[in-house]
Amino acid sequence: MRIGSGVDVHSFGPGDHVMLGGVRVPHSRGVIAHSDGDVVLHALCDALLGAAGLGDIGQHFRDTDPRWKGADSRRFIVGAMEMLRARKLRVGNADVTVLAEAPKVGPVREQIRSQIAELLGVAADRVNVKATTTEKLGFLGRAEGIAAQAVVLLLDG
Ligand code: MG
Repeated sequence: MRIGSGVDVHSFGPGDHVMLGGVRVPHSRGVIAHSDGDVVLHALCDALLGAAGLGDIGQHFRDTDPRWKGADSRRFIVGAMEMLRARKLRVGNADVTVLAEAPKVGPVREQIRSQIAELLGVAADRVNVKATTTEKLGFLGRAEGIAAQAVVLLLDG
C-alpha cells in the first residue's frame, strides 16, 4: 500500500470557464495555464506520481513542452496511470478538495466524481470530491485563483 498527495494552484485570468476534474465548469473567469489548467487533475496527477515514487507532474509533462500547450489534463492522468500499471499498481481510493470562493463545486460534484473514477479505473464510490472556501482569507479568498489538493492510496497488484 502506498499513499500520495498533490497540490495545485492556478491564477484566474480572462475566460468564461474553468476545468475541474475534466469537467467544464462555467465561471466569470478562466485560469492562466500552459495546459487547460485543471487544478483537480494536476493535484491528482501529483498524488498518483507521489504515491508511486515517480516525482511530479512537471518532470513528466513539462509546462514548456509545446505538446502540452492547451492540453486536456486528462492526458496527464492517462499517462500517470500507464506508469502505475507498468509497475503493477492500482488505485484504492482518491480524495480531492477544491479550494476556491467560486465557482461552486456542488452542482458538478457527481460529474467530476464519475470522470475521475473513469480515469482511475475504479468505481465512483472510491472517489470523493469536496470543496471549501478559505473564508475570504488570502489569495484564494480574494478570488485571485483556484487550488486543489488530492490524496490517493495505491494498492499492489
Ligand atoms: Mg497546474
